[in-house]
Amino acid sequence: MKIRLVMLAIAVLLGVALPLVWSQTGQRQVSLVITNGIVVTMNATGQTIDNGAVAIDGADIVAVGSADEIVRQFRGADTIDATGQVVMPGLINTHTHAPMVLYRGLADDMGLMEWLTKYIFPAEAKTVSPEFVRAGTRLAALEMIQSGTTTYADMYYFEEEIARETKAAGLRGVLGQTVIQFPVADAKTPADALARAERFIQQFQNDPLIVPAVAPHAIYSLDESTLRSARELSKRYSVPTLIHLAETRDEVTMAQERFQASPVGYLDRLGFLGAGVLAAHASWVSAPEAAILQSRGVGVSHNPESNMKLASGTAPVPVFLKAGVAVGLATDGAASNNDLDMFEAMRTASLVHKLQTAYPRAVGARTALEMATGGGARALGMAAQIGSLEPGKRADVIVVGMTAARQTPMYNPISHLVYTTRGDDVRTTIVNGKVLMRDRKVLTLNETSVLAEAREWATKVRTVVDLR
Ligand SMILES: [Zn+2]
Repeated sequence: MKIRLVMLAIAVLLGVALPLVWSQTGQRQVSLVITNGIVVTMNATGQTIDNGAVAIDGADIVAVGSADEIVRQFRGADTIDATGQVVMPGLINTHTHAPMVLYRGLADDMGLMEWLTKYIFPAEAKTVSPEFVRAGTRLAALEMIQSGTTTYADMYYFEEEIARETKAAGLRGVLGQTVIQFPVADAKTPADALARAERFIQQFQNDPLIVPAVAPHAIYSLDESTLRSARELSKRYSVPTLIHLAETRDEVTMAQERFQASPVGYLDRLGFLGAGVLAAHASWVSAPEAAILQSRGVGVSHNPESNMKLASGTAPVPVFLKAGVAVGLATDGAASNNDLDMFEAMRTASLVHKLQTAYPRAVGARTALEMATGGGARALGMAAQIGSLEPGKRADVIVVGMTAARQTPMYNPISHLVYTTRGDDVRTTIVNGKVLMRDRKVLTLNETSVLAEAREWATKVRTVVDLR
């Protein structure tokens, strides 16, 4: 009897005392806390927190602040110690063709039209299939996760397969089903391509990771009625329209001859330009045309490395920024870059515009970083969800090592992120609150088999493409 009473008393005491301890600490349980890092928020005030932390619950960021403050308020089911590392928003690659990683290094040192018509279009005609696209997307996803990209915009074929692999890898994607005039692997006619794009939109329109889109290839590869239909389709479903625009001087010459207008002037005449349109490249755009893009709400995707490698021209990025155009950064497909490293894209963007304008502040470090994060989010119409570390946004976060010889010493983390950091320095990649890579170990893809499979596809590509 006595023992029972004692046990009862202990039970009552524990029952009363434990909740007291719990409420006294006042901590809210969340899924993940990243702490002790240099938090580069990329919020509106450009705030950086020297010893900071980010609390994540489920898919969302719930708090950003000093490590002391966050640890006092939140208890993570999981914790990541980011000592000596930068915690920042995941990078946004606003233009790529993910499966083209399988053509990486296939043909270099030529201009866009020679490269496309002699190598890329023939290689695609003989190798693109649902299996090819899946293997290529897995390889691209592996590279993007390893180099800190958390969202990418894509234009390719069999986009539903790309969407499935993107989801499986855990990445966020704005994925555009390509519409092009000539017969391709997934569509015999532009009408087929439009029907395929519509099915794709219907299938993925409410997905937490995938934003389906329509990707009319370019004004030189589509007739007027198909351009109009593609734009109408994206308007009907309120999804983005992704297009290559004013990429080369040849495109401008062609537009003048065929349409008696510049590429931007032609699309504006068609009523094509409007919110939701993302123009990739925009290398040959005048200042008055930049103002048209801004007034129509068109976003621009800047691809400095691809533009340099294909000798396409230098996009007037300082002019776009001055005009208030939303400019995101991108790698383009790996066949013309030849990688998907957004850190390289940031550094190149900053350097090329200094060189082009002979003005060292044309694109400074913070501007380059902004284009790769918030600028990309705005260009894609996703600024409410991604692009900065702020409560209420999706938890797309990367943790970047800052202690390599190349990064020592560090006076300014923003400078280091743009001018010395490489994709390989990314330690941890989180998308929608899920850890995709932890301390360089990718958790959602089997690295060995993804690489082996890619090498097998290269053997097939070699047999069908004349590499002389
Ligand atoms: Zn492209």
